[in-house]
Amino acid sequence: MSNVSLQAVRGMNDILPEEAGLWLWFEDVVRDWLHGYGYRNIRMPLVEPTSLFKRAIGEVTDIVEKEMYSFEDSLNGDQLTLRPEGTASCVRAVLQHNMLYNAPQRLYYSGPMFRHERPQKGRYRQFHQVGVEALGFAGPDIDAEQILMCARLWRMLGIRDVTLQLNTLGDAAARQRHRDKLIAWFEQHKETLDADASRRLYSNPLRILDSKNPAMQEIIAAAPKLMDELEDEALQHFEAVQAVLKRHGIAYEINPRLVRGLDYYNRTVFEWVTTRLGAQGTICAGGRYDGLVEQIGGKPAPAMGFAMGVERLLALLQDDGMPLPRPEVDVYVVHQGELACQFASRVAESLRDDKLRVVMHCGGGGFKSQMKKADASGAVCAVIIGDDEAQVNEVSVKPMQGGEQVRVALSGLTECINNILKS
Ligand code: ATP
Ligand code: MG
Repeated sequence: MSNVSLQAVRGMNDILPEEAGLWLWFEDVVRDWLHGYGYRNIRMPLVEPTSLFKRAIGEVTDIVEKEMYSFEDSLNGDQLTLRPEGTASCVRAVLQHNMLYNAPQRLYYSGPMFRHERPQKGRYRQFHQVGVEALGFAGPDIDAEQILMCARLWRMLGIRDVTLQLNTLGDAAARQRHRDKLIAWFEQHKETLDADASRRLYSNPLRILDSKNPAMQEIIAAAPKLMDELEDEALQHFEAVQAVLKRHGIAYEINPRLVRGLDYYNRTVFEWVTTRLGAQGTICAGGRYDGLVEQIGGKPAPAMGFAMGVERLLALLQDDGMPLPRPEVDVYVVHQGELACQFASRVAESLRDDKLRVVMHCGGGGFKSQMKKADASGAVCAVIIGDDEAQVNEVSVKPMQGGEQVRVALSGLTECINNILKS
């Protein structure tokens, strides 16, 4: 055995119990929120054939070009990838199980995603998303519903200071016209393009608009606008989404430069952004992807979805001074003596029957050291049992936040504890 200490893979984090409490609370809120809109849970594998992501996300995207954990299964030679996002897997599953056969689907999933990026605050190599996909819906109503859903979640979580950025990417023909004009435009400014942009000039010129290189901002700002190419139908769709948002008082900003990093989007795209997390300010992003189902081999079906970055959302909540989640333990049972020990485990079991969360002291020691452990456990009260108490089926109860220690019969114990929990 080597004595090099073993560490987690860089950019892949342990979530320790103190923080996991916040995750559990968040997951509860999110589940209630999703079920409030009729979304149903789906769980896909963490590993998929590499070809799925290449086909769905696009060969010339940051994700496929440089961020995927791809490998060959040494046992059978299959080309596999740790999922970098959920939409491709979700659509694959929906098609494989013929789920669009007779009804549209509202689906959600959550879990880890993997991207080989440079780790920094808000950017990790294993991170978590909650993803929402509505498949088989063509109209602007579902686009608006998903954006309204997000606004509700921010209210449920107490998140303020996030703004909604909105854009439309139009349909295939308009995008093709725009693409041709973009290539012509950037060809005229070849000397200003950086290496990334030159490489993408013919493969993915739309992505050049997303560049943060200051030297290119001027030619980007003056580049041909997709908005000028849009067909009436796409424009009306976009207007209809906006009309619903206005009716519901959802503020938004139209950002013509919002193009998203994945190839499958068309029409409505959006991002929720905060300025409070530094450069990694996008907490939620999504859009319409009407072409993807067909691209993955299904009968054409329109669709719309989004994903939130859980680490970034939780960082925002912590920055806001999240109220502490409720204690995880109600009762710590302290006991000393042979008879007391037997009685104590009966008491603990009966409290659990009454839905209380009980830690039974294990490992011996005097009352004083056991009480210290009770304190450290975060329990709301201690139940204290000595042999004399055990002999008469009674226990002592001490509120850990201060207050009288009282002696009660076993029959009145749950009520006594519940009163302390309520106070
Ligand atoms: P970014 O522009 O920040 O790289 P993206 O466009 O690559 O984001 P999406 O693929 O749209 O991100 O994923 C949706 C959300 O998942 C993002 O808005 C973000 O909150 C979160 N996310 C994406 N990549 C990471 C990462 N490496 N670490 C943590 N969260 C991430
Ligand atoms: Mg990215």
